[in-house]
Amino acid sequence: MTGWNNWSGSVAASPRLIAKPRTAAELASLVGQASKVRVVGAGHSFMPLCETGDLLLNLSDYESAIEIAPDRKTVWAPAGWSLKKLTAALWIEGLSLINQGDINPQSLAGAVSTGTHGTGAELGSLSTQACGFRLMTADGQIVECGPDLNPELYQAQRLSLGLLGVAVEIRINVVPAYHLEERVERRPLAEVAERLDELGAATRHMEFFVFPYSDDVIFKTLHPVEAEEPRRPAREVGEDSEATFRKICDVCAAIPILTPSLQRLMMGMMGKPSRRVGPAYEIFPSERNIRFEEMEYELPRAAGIPTLKAAMAHIRKRRLPVTFPFEFRLAAGDDIWMSPFNAGPGASISFHQYAKMPWRELFTEMEAVLRDGAGRPHWAKRHTLTTADVHRLYPRAGEFVGACKTWDPTGKFANTHLTQLFGL
Ligand SMILES: Cc1cc2nc3c(=O)[nH]c(=O)nc-3n(C[C@H](O)[C@H](O)[C@H](O)COP(=O)(O)OP(=O)(O)OC[C@H]3O[C@@H](n4cnc5c(N)ncnc54)[C@H](O)[C@@H]3O)c2cc1C
Repeated sequence: MTGWNNWSGSVAASPRLIAKPRTAAELASLVGQASKVRVVGAGHSFMPLCETGDLLLNLSDYESAIEIAPDRKTVWAPAGWSLKKLTAALWIEGLSLINQGDINPQSLAGAVSTGTHGTGAELGSLSTQACGFRLMTADGQIVECGPDLNPELYQAQRLSLGLLGVAVEIRINVVPAYHLEERVERRPLAEVAERLDELGAATRHMEFFVFPYSDDVIFKTLHPVEAEEPRRPAREVGEDSEATFRKICDVCAAIPILTPSLQRLMMGMMGKPSRRVGPAYEIFPSERNIRFEEMEYELPRAAGIPTLKAAMAHIRKRRLPVTFPFEFRLAAGDDIWMSPFNAGPGASISFHQYAKMPWRELFTEMEAVLRDGAGRPHWAKRHTLTTADVHRLYPRAGEFVGACKTWDPTGKFANTHLTQLFGL
């Protein structure tokens, strides 16, 4: 028996076996011999998606390579590669992903399986960029699917939480390699809220962070630009502010009543606006070394700001010790059966708490506010949806569950959490 923990430390499991197959034959043998199978990428999900008492697979050593389509618009990529490894390999080939989230240690399959997204008013999640899968299903065979090949399997697999099988390769949309300019500055929340649509349209990627006890936001944009020389070291400023932030989190954990004043102090210390330029795959991700627990709800675009304000007002009224800022992002609508963005253009609100501080009660209160705004949760982040909620919120959940039962009739790829969530 070997122990396993997720990134934040809130999920622990004791799988019978943790294995890293290198070939399809090894993978088939492992899947064939196990009664229950889960796959883990980087373990960055906050929900117990990878929890299992039987076989836990990891595909980071699976022997596969990127395969670029002749038109250079798509690439078959190893599903177990981290986004860090994938985007660096694409860059060498003169290619980039269309969008990325905050960090890059996640596996490609983990990111696609959970609807991981970045920000951009016109840009969908990574699941929307996946246009084909090679998947080992419960019978040990590798099945390929895409819009025109096994289309029902494809529709379910686009955001599947790993319920249909083990993704070994994913075909993903790519674009010619590009550089990004990042700008970060302090702005009043009132102004950003008022001009959200205009600001969201002005650059390709716009997001902001706001501490619940501050009236100003950390406003961040990314926009494609020409390359610049000489390049500056990317992380110097971030490292200093992370060390300061960690100290503030530790003080808040020890003396929670200080949280509001320390947050205002921290915003007051924010330096001058910053700017940097670099290859997109280096500029998208940030370092996230301070562990936290996270909940995120995706809302209809128009409900985003009112819901954020309601959440902040709730925290202030109850004087709750929330140490991390909210993160507010935009995403395009999509047509994926289980995507929380499938009702149209979305606004995404992430709520974090320092991992050393109690989070469960806070999250219960926040979830009520976020659900009032007609939100649907990010599947990898903390939520308490029931099967009834899933079917009420997702008109196509029945088709998704049907595909799971067709391709995995004995529920080999399910675990306790997912069986309860989807009523499998
Ligand atoms: C610090 C931090 C920052 C984050 N930033 C963002 C962000 O900016 N945007 C965002 O949307 N989310 C973000 N997340 C959430 C994160 O992107 C998701 O949890 C993502 O699933 C993590 O990828 P992973 O490789 O760790 O997946 P895991 O957590 O390991 O697995 C996630 C799911 O994918 C399945 N899976 C993994 N590999 C396979 C495979 N080969 N075949 C089949 N199924 C598979 C697993 O079974 C599981 O259901 C963040 C999380 C953390 C901790």
